Amino acid sequence: MKLANYVAGKWLEGTGAGTPLVDPVLGTELARASTDGVDMRAALDYARTTGGPALRKLSYGERAALLGKIVEVLTANKDKYQATALANSGNTKIDAAIDIDGGIGTLFFYSRLGSKLGDKRALHDGAFDRLGKDEAFQSTHIAVPLQGAAIHINAFNFPSWGLWEKAAVALLAGVPVVAKPATATALLSYQMVKDVIDAGVLPAGALSLICGSARDLLDHVTGQDAIAFTGSADTAHLLRANKNVIASGARFNVEADSLNSSLLGPDATEGAPEFDLFVREVAREMTQKAGQKCTAIRRAFVPRALADKVAGALEARLAKTVVGNPRTESVTMGPVVSKSQQKAVLDAIRQLSAEAKTVIGGDAKPVDANAATGCFVAPTLLRCDDPASGKAVHAVEAFGPACTLMPYDSAEQAIALAAKGGGSLAASVFTSDDKFAADAALGLAASHGRVLIIDEKVGKSSTGHGIVMPMCVHGGPGRAGGGEELGGLRGLRFYHQRLAVQGRLDRLQAIATSAADVSL
Ligand code: NAP
Repeated sequence: MKLANYVAGKWLEGTGAGTPLVDPVLGTELARASTDGVDMRAALDYARTTGGPALRKLSYGERAALLGKIVEVLTANKDKYQATALANSGNTKIDAAIDIDGGIGTLFFYSRLGSKLGDKRALHDGAFDRLGKDEAFQSTHIAVPLQGAAIHINAFNFPSWGLWEKAAVALLAGVPVVAKPATATALLSYQMVKDVIDAGVLPAGALSLICGSARDLLDHVTGQDAIAFTGSADTAHLLRANKNVIASGARFNVEADSLNSSLLGPDATEGAPEFDLFVREVAREMTQKAGQKCTAIRRAFVPRALADKVAGALEARLAKTVVGNPRTESVTMGPVVSKSQQKAVLDAIRQLSAEAKTVIGGDAKPVDANAATGCFVAPTLLRCDDPASGKAVHAVEAFGPACTLMPYDSAEQAIALAAKGGGSLAASVFTSDDKFAADAALGLAASHGRVLIIDEKVGKSSTGHGIVMPMCVHGGPGRAGGGEELGGLRGLRFYHQRLAVQGRLDRLQAIATSAADVSL
């Protein structure tokens, strides 16, 4: 089977042999993807000229209702998607739910949120400001949807969530989507988009899909397009440097890789609720989706006096992980998605091992699967006792079930070490000390996109370190790409042109009344 591309309102198979999509447990081929012969310029033009006007004709409320229709279509097909997530990504049921329900949940959230914007077609952001002595002459800000396409280039680890968390915001904004999932796991994205297109719930041109290489896609972007990229920092650098991307001034949001950290506070003691919550969270982050979450904890910082205790507790917990074929009920962690990812993770672990020793790791011995054909990596906890001198431990992302445990000597040092990731998506802090919680949140703020603060009182209700919630912004500075997505209505900003309008106050008020009040 070859995955077809959905461009210019038609399903079109690429020519040539295509790139195989493989089951990472069995090593068998599931499908092929090719974009050879696909006219990328025409694909973007169709989205801009057919999808854009159709979406902009609708109000925010009407577009929010479209998101609700997508939710209905996807919800009706969840069992099929679960099977695909297992076959193409090696997901356990829980891993698949994070991706599939995460995508549907984000669409649902934006459908509810967008409905509050009602019948408006523009946004009004902020107050009115007097510009001089005359009170009649003032300014205000409004925002309108871009008139180009939203180009979404996604990473392999979230073929559902990555697709819909971006599409939900762009479609609500009124900007047509051209989605390009990572080839290795594109089968799930393909099935979902196919179901939505077949259901006829979206206007023509609102959603297009490219399955396979992006080829010359970015050579055709214009200044009204908005590119949202998720993937490795290396690819981000390459795409940012594309001559046409630079020359056109197209918007470019990057969600790249990240050395996220978790801190156990200096107040912690063995057996304290925060100690147990921290250990549970680190182990869960390492093994959920086999560690293939951009937000997963890669560095765990603990008070030096507790390092042995934490290492022991994590080792005991990780030893219970059952690695293998997720088709077997007892298996709690599947493979990484491909042989090349397996090699990349093992190479990264080797680099980290130059500065850290292994607490638990080694060869994976998968249950009900062949270690040679499958893409398994054992949960690997490393320990680096000199994190202040370590370099690789703060720089090398092992995008799999791996984490480095590091002791710190003071509260200030813990915060400084976490910031050594060079800009990260998420940090978590486990402490019962309110002062440390506040110091850590503010101390980590400049280098992070999100900080999660946990104590006994919110330990149970926490959504977790690595789970991206649509009401919170997602992204991080520096190495993490410098981007920002989601964050409720804040996410609309990327797909809107905000402008200052200056003039007579009563005219400005009339314009503002025709727009929905938001704070972007
Ligand atoms: P990747 O190799 O950088 O690929 C990302 C996407 O870019 C894929 O769709 C890929 O397509 C596409 N791509 C590659 N070369 C391209 C080119 N020349 N022109 C246009 N598109 C191109 O990343 P990955 O291996 O899929 O994902 C893993 C990385 O993503 C990890 O480092 C992880 O930390 C990061 N990540 C970050 C976030 C976040 O939100 N910050 C979320 C998830 C993952 P093909 O698949 O067809 O090559």
